Amino acid sequence: ERMRSAVTRTRESLSTTLGTVVALTREVDDASLDDLEFALLASDIGAPTTNEIIGRLRDRALRQGIASGAELRELLKAEILRILTSVAKPVYAPSNPPEVVMMVGVNGTGKTTTSGKLAALYRREGRSVLLCAADTFRAAAIEQLEVWSQRSGVDLIKTKQGGDPSAALFDAASAAKARATEILLVDTAGRLHTKADLMKELDKMVRTSDKVVPGSPHQTLLVIDATTGQNGLQQARLFTEAAKVTGIVLTKLDGTAKGGIVVAIAHELGLPVRYVGIGEKIEDIIEFDPVAFTESLLG
Ligand code: GDP
Repeated sequence: ERMRSAVTRTRESLSTTLGTVVALTREVDDASLDDLEFALLASDIGAPTTNEIIGRLRDRALRQGIASGAELRELLKAEILRILTSVAKPVYAPSNPPEVVMMVGVNGTGKTTTSGKLAALYRREGRSVLLCAADTFRAAAIEQLEVWSQRSGVDLIKTKQGGDPSAALFDAASAAKARATEILLVDTAGRLHTKADLMKELDKMVRTSDKVVPGSPHQTLLVIDATTGQNGLQQARLFTEAAKVTGIVLTKLDGTAKGGIVVAIAHELGLPVRYVGIGEKIEDIIEFDPVAFTESLLG
């Protein structure tokens, strides 16, 4: 239900064109596939992914024919679901606590907010959580995370602004290990001078984490702002080259018609979307489910 309302604008923008296509009672032809292609591009599914989907639908139309718009809708759903599930991977949970989850991404995408929301979500699930403020670059990030830590009732380990993020992580990982905390959530800085700088900083953090908790970080979640659409995808690529990203958090899906970006992320980055941000409040996060998403978009 919450997924459905999160993709309302994307569904509405799709449904204008899709509505015309789907209302077809005759066999689907080239012209209707062109209309569909246009609708997919407008929802920010992106050219490579749209081409892949339309190509497969066109093949199918040529081979077997597509009898009606309703059948086309079902085939489209199956295509999107195929792309989303092809990148689904089980989350690797370590046998000994803590599980270290690192949040990376460009400033302003919602890393700090997501760290706070996830802390609260895991707490609600009854798991023990520790937050680490390793975004020592952005002026307000540490205070902001402090507010989230109070709201979610989760302890926070921090250093001062301008300090070494790896030092904060070292302290937090050591504390999480000593307390046998189940999950350590690490908010990192998203400064983007150069790829080399970013790589160096993330590398150091990964090595620090691994030194204290061997095998960690277990998850590196890349936060992408859905409203930035294809641009966000470009920036995301830089992070996937600088760090071993294991999954995506797509924020600000509320209020954007660019929800098709979910499909582009799966197809172009080959990474599963783990969570979706649907607002600014603490409970405004949902675990991503490919079936629920596809149904919400085209159901
Ligand atoms: P950071 O620089 O990556 O840590 O980004 P922040 O966590 O400070 O978030 C930047 C802005 O985006 C803040 O104003 C947040 O309230 C807002 N924000 C984050 N996630 C969401 C979301 O899912 N939906 C909406 N509408 N706003 C969000």
